[in-house]
Amino acid sequence: MLYFIEQTNIKNLIIDLVKRWNVVAPIEQDGKDVLLEKLPESSEKLEKYLGRISLNSKTANKQTLIPPKEIFFPQSELMFTYSTHSTAKKEFKIESPASTTDTDTAKPVLFFGIKPCDYYALNITGSFFKNGFEDFYYLSKSKNYLALIFGCITPPEPESCFCSSAGTGPVLSKEKGQDFDIQFIEENAGGYFVETGTDRGDEFIKANSRYFKDLSDRKSSVKRLKDIKERAFKNIELSVDFEKALTIMEEGARSGDTSTGLLNSVYGKIADRCIYCGSCLYACPTCTCFNIYDSTESTVVASERTFPLNGERVRVWDACVFSGYTREASGHNPRGESYTRAARRYEHKLKYDPAVYGRSSCTGCGRCLTACPVNIGMSTFIREITENHEK
Ligand code: SF4
Ligand code: SF4
Repeated sequence: MLYFIEQTNIKNLIIDLVKRWNVVAPIEQDGKDVLLEKLPESSEKLEKYLGRISLNSKTANKQTLIPPKEIFFPQSELMFTYSTHSTAKKEFKIESPASTTDTDTAKPVLFFGIKPCDYYALNITGSFFKNGFEDFYYLSKSKNYLALIFGCITPPEPESCFCSSAGTGPVLSKEKGQDFDIQFIEENAGGYFVETGTDRGDEFIKANSRYFKDLSDRKSSVKRLKDIKERAFKNIELSVDFEKALTIMEEGARSGDTSTGLLNSVYGKIADRCIYCGSCLYACPTCTCFNIYDSTESTVVASERTFPLNGERVRVWDACVFSGYTREASGHNPRGESYTRAARRYEHKLKYDPAVYGRSSCTGCGRCLTACPVNIGMSTFIREITENHEK
């Protein structure tokens, strides 16, 4: 179904939505960076946010610095606290935090203004956190979330966005078999076309029908939307041969890509330049490495504990490129050499995930390139291997 919403109705729609949803929207910060934030319910506080929402339009089209995974998988998360006053088991107490996120868990999350590539990324992290082991912390927060996608008519980061090569954007189309509930496409400064792709999307429109005009029978609108989408693809400047890269990675896995092979030589070159800061992985919407540690108040000396013992267990983002990530208690590190850690990063996205899930876990968002202080990114890696293959 196809609808239209006037620009002037966007604000009123949001004011209505915050009553029933935890609305998370891209908010421009003082330094002009854009971050996803939960919108407050109180009208006085909400007013301050409404003018800073950065949607995918000609006037405001920035990528969020931190991807949406942080809403369900925060950079630092308290898992539980514990306390004991003696060694007696019955006196050992564990408490879960009242809420594992700053979003109110009673209401589902509604992403307002998420980009198509980030919508794909949420599907990927969602699969990871329920594959084999169900991660309570992620899944309890992501239950029933809905994404109102805003297609990109112009790429937010022209030098690094390559979503059209990865098949995740800049706009989605049901005709191409792309799955989405609701997608907004800016028609002009006055409003947005709104497409629904599922019954859930139609139900959302029905529940908020006073803001939307039904255009489903208007052939001229359908044609206009098609033209806008075609233009969006033409506006993507960066293109890489994604499919060829996946084939090379798969072949590399079969052949073992010996130490003189193309892949290993590229990993070596990356390892020489990479400073292992981890920025690319923290900025990546599909990276999910984490570490867990205990922070205790009392001293623990060998097996003797000083009581009372109070502490908290915390989960924090980690990165597979850090040498400490795989270092074992013995000191041995199976990925001790830096090129093996570089390899892990690219092989995870382009070789293991396609083998396990049937699709790559790189969305082409380009954040890794934007974030990297030495200009290494997934697009540069793909170019390097596809352009030098069979030479
Ligand atoms: S690897 Fe880079 S381009 Fe791909 S999803 Fe992660 S940050 Fe985006
Ligand atoms: S951002 Fe660049 S330098 Fe930092 S770890 Fe990633 S590839 Fe290496």
